[in-house]
Amino acid sequence: MSESVLDTLNINQRKAASTIDTHVRIIAGAGSGKTRVLMARIVYLVKEVGIMPNRILAITFTNKATQEMKERLHTQLKDEASVVRISTIHALCVRILREDADQIGYPRSFTILDSDDQKQILRPIYKKMDIDLKQLSMAKVLGYISGYKSEHIDPDMAIAMAETDNSEQIANIYKFYEDARLEMKAMDFDDLLIEAHKLLNHNVDVRTKWQNRLDYIHVDEFQDVDPVQYGIIRLITGKHAFLCVVGDPDQTIYTWRGASVDIILRFNKDFENCETVILDQNYRSTKPILEASNKVISYNQDRIKKDLYTQIPGDDKILLHASSEEGDEPLFVAREISKRHKNGIDYKDIAILYRSNYSSRSFERVFRTVGIPYIIYGGIRFYERQEIKDALAYLKLCTYPDENDPEQFSLDLAILRVINQPRRGIGQKSIDALREEAASRHINLFEEMRDPIDISNAIKRKCEGFVSLILDLRSHRKDYSLEDFLDYVLDKTGYLKMLEDENETERIENLKELKSDIAQSLKEDPDMTLETYLQDVSLFTDKTSDLALNSVSLMTVHAAKGLEFDTVFLVNFNDGIFPSARSVQEGGRKSLEEERRLCYVAMTRAKRNLIITWNTGYSYMLDTYKISSRFLMEIPKEYTYDDKPKPKVEYTSNMMQSSMSPSKQTMKKNQKFRKGDLVDHSVYGQGVVLKIEGNVATVAFSHKFGVKKLNASHPSLKKA
Ligand code: ATP
Ligand code: MG
Repeated sequence: MSESVLDTLNINQRKAASTIDTHVRIIAGAGSGKTRVLMARIVYLVKEVGIMPNRILAITFTNKATQEMKERLHTQLKDEASVVRISTIHALCVRILREDADQIGYPRSFTILDSDDQKQILRPIYKKMDIDLKQLSMAKVLGYISGYKSEHIDPDMAIAMAETDNSEQIANIYKFYEDARLEMKAMDFDDLLIEAHKLLNHNVDVRTKWQNRLDYIHVDEFQDVDPVQYGIIRLITGKHAFLCVVGDPDQTIYTWRGASVDIILRFNKDFENCETVILDQNYRSTKPILEASNKVISYNQDRIKKDLYTQIPGDDKILLHASSEEGDEPLFVAREISKRHKNGIDYKDIAILYRSNYSSRSFERVFRTVGIPYIIYGGIRFYERQEIKDALAYLKLCTYPDENDPEQFSLDLAILRVINQPRRGIGQKSIDALREEAASRHINLFEEMRDPIDISNAIKRKCEGFVSLILDLRSHRKDYSLEDFLDYVLDKTGYLKMLEDENETERIENLKELKSDIAQSLKEDPDMTLETYLQDVSLFTDKTSDLALNSVSLMTVHAAKGLEFDTVFLVNFNDGIFPSARSVQEGGRKSLEEERRLCYVAMTRAKRNLIITWNTGYSYMLDTYKISSRFLMEIPKEYTYDDKPKPKVEYTSNMMQSSMSPSKQTMKKNQKFRKGDLVDHSVYGQGVVLKIEGNVATVAFSHKFGVKKLNASHPSLKKA
């Protein structure tokens, strides 16, 4: 008999993968192979049951998970893998809307608003209402807007419900935002879900079309779907189709965004013809890591108890490390990474996880200094970098708007972004005046700039210059391939020269990366146009460049969902940070339990090594000295060890125990240090070399010792 993909699974996993005549629900803890089963099931359906791959849909939680699933399926299904529909729920909604958005009053080429675009929309109302950004940040307002939308509260309802001046102000901003958005016929990320749901719900033809396309629908991370997403999943599941949902209620970490664990728990009520499979063997982590994680999550009262066991060999305990100063924590982590890297661990197998995005800063800074390659997921992502957005905005201005297409208004955002990149001497006041005049004439900003009425002659001339630049770009679009057109645009607009003059090598490199991205996308889809490229990149916010593939990954715990790494550093493990200050202040059991689930997710990302670090330095944010996380107390001592500061004698004893030949020892002693090297000093501990002048090394050590100038060839100093 030929090999079956099912042979790679254990009995329960096999049952879940091969039950294809009912709906299937897999409930199981972290690392028990839920995602693996889901992929095996798809391979089984295609290879062994003969289902057409394009009739299979898999919904993943992040773009990164989509990418990984595509790659893994490709190894088994080859070309057929590319036809399986794998996407995030947002990308699926875009697909649905691009085909039929006209049925609900949007152009099919509607613009997708990312957070920067949303802020551009808010700017005029902030100005008009004279709102102080420090008192009411746009991020906060956008959070409220998203919250209203997820609870189906429209602006008028929000205004009616407002009880304080503050909430009334936010509700008014919401109204303004929605009016502006609707005028542009654009959608933000929340709208994508809401509008796709509306379309499927109200339009039988569209719903039937999608139902007829799909036989098997899979949803990973099902514990985190919210009611709208669940509604969409239900609507596209036809009577003949089967759903397979997998999830772990202990990993529900998006209740703050409306996710509801009840959905997975009640699933068999909605879909009565349902088989439930429980998986209990963990294939990811060693015993100390798994047992410690199991113990931590067991402190949650609001849960169904699970027993997970592992046979993964390895008994390295969890390393705990406290630093007394904030700046020492990343130094320690960098030193550990270098050590482990030298011992053969690839950078890409190491992750730094933190509760909140801001934690990345101090680690980035040290990694940059000592030359550890790293990539940030979910921080400043490639497509969100300033230069990339500017270049995309210029490209957007080169698309051909239809005179009757309301989408023309979305060009305004692009103009606002690049009008003074490089400087063109059109000041904010003039821009505001142009925008106001455009609004009163019901034309977009580009049309306004073509023919301003009540604007000074000097500004008119500058507008003319900008308009003719854009018209020139548009007229040359056909002369180039898409990727070469980018070069033309960057050259003609003076944007590249501006970066060159400012010596912005990194930004220039990013733009080169954008060019290869366009080329790569064209290879994948030769019919791609500038329009479709621009429409779709707004979704790929966590697409990463190949350059960064062998890098340490930095990300929030939320972004790490579903992923696994050989070595995980869980950093800034302080009370007020993890659990977050808000959950501590609220003090409610529910919010603390969500933080504990998050902690469980973080710990269970590690396969063989887990290192937990924190610092007891002063926090400006918390306005106090920090203490370790309360969750630390929940990790049994038998699975951890402390990293005590190294005693003075250590260097000597190391030398005595060393098995290195004398010549090697001399070499090591006489080693040359370079700027950025991590070093160990027998008295001052760990430090970073700031400068080398002849035989004098200037080294920054941790608090108390500070910066020291040392004899670089003295045996007390060695590379870490
Ligand atoms: P999470 O809850 O974190 O999403 P999961 O349940 O989806 O975890 P997977 O990521 O599918 O777990 O699996 C964890 C690891 O265990 C993966 O490396 C996977 O390849 C491996 N694994 C799962 N099942 C088996 C098996 N039967 N044999 C060998 N390896 C397995
Ligand atoms: Mg998974």
